[in-house]
Amino acid sequence: AFDVLVVGGGPAGASAAIYAARKGIRTGVLAERFGGQVSDTMGIENFISVKATEGPKLVANLEQHVLDYDVDLMKTQKAVRIEKKDLVEVELENGAVLKSKTVILATGARWREMNVPGEQEYKTKGVAYCPHCDGPLFKGKKTAVIGGGNSGIEAAIDLAGIVEHVTVLEFSDTLRADEVLVRKAKSLPNVTIITEAMTTEVLGDGERVTGLQYTDRKTGESHKLELAGIFVQIGLVPNSEFLKGSVNLTERGEIIIDSHGRTSMEGVFAAGDVTNVPYKQIIISMGAGATAALGAFDHLIRN
Ligand code: FAD
Repeated sequence: AFDVLVVGGGPAGASAAIYAARKGIRTGVLAERFGGQVSDTMGIENFISVKATEGPKLVANLEQHVLDYDVDLMKTQKAVRIEKKDLVEVELENGAVLKSKTVILATGARWREMNVPGEQEYKTKGVAYCPHCDGPLFKGKKTAVIGGGNSGIEAAIDLAGIVEHVTVLEFSDTLRADEVLVRKAKSLPNVTIITEAMTTEVLGDGERVTGLQYTDRKTGESHKLELAGIFVQIGLVPNSEFLKGSVNLTERGEIIIDSHGRTSMEGVFAAGDVTNVPYKQIIISMGAGATAALGAFDHLIRN
């Protein structure tokens, strides 16, 4: 059995594994896809002390750092169930059951996509999901934000300070964001809000995004916007489906953790984008992974 078994191989999982292994305890990591969301990222400019890097490069560094220690790394393995018995048991898709004294859940999250033509083709070429990450790339340019919930309106306010102009497209007839955010967004001269707008296509020149097409749901008319960037803000979905009924989740499916990374299940900790931490970033997940590993170690020495 492991002392610490980490489920997930993104920045949170990698950090948790290194912190655990450095305590000289039996550490395992299983990951469906090592690297997580970072594998899908091109430019990273906010990983403090590294001025600029690229996702695949950071993933290679993460893996090398993990493998510097005595860590049992199990790639392309998916957890489908977790249960607290004497030890914590983690069942894999292939039927195997791994046992560990403590488990750290770091399964991350995924951005909900629009599922319109052009979105996949122009990902990282103008279609973006993270304003904190990619906002500065569109300095002085025209952008759109898809989604008029809190994250969409926050993104619009954030981007308005950097880019030339922001158009918010909301599918329904009202914005679903907090009133104070809506008021702020409406007060900005370079923000336009369009409701009842259904995005139908991402337009590009083969290299980069050049605009988008949307249908006015009131009139049925189709319109084009010229843009350099499109920020899709229609939800971040935690990869926690397999945990329903085991650890406590928020109504959005995020694992609820305390200040030590503890979940509601004894000996089970969690870190990163799959949890209810307020901001989802690489540096934040790495910090959370360290917290969860130290929390797990603390649990081990007390039990
Ligand atoms: P993830 O990176 O999502 O990793 C989750 C891990 O768990 C993966 O290994 C996955 O395969 C695994 N997993 C999931 N379910 C299971 C299961 N059932 N069994 C086993 N393994 C499982 N942040 C920044 O700070 N700067 C940026 O510039 C930046 N740019 C971004 C660009 C894009 C396109 C995206 C999508 C995100 C970006 N982010 C950026 C956000 C950042 O990538 C995330 O905050 C971070 O990766 C979260 O780390 P994590 O370890 O919690 O989860």
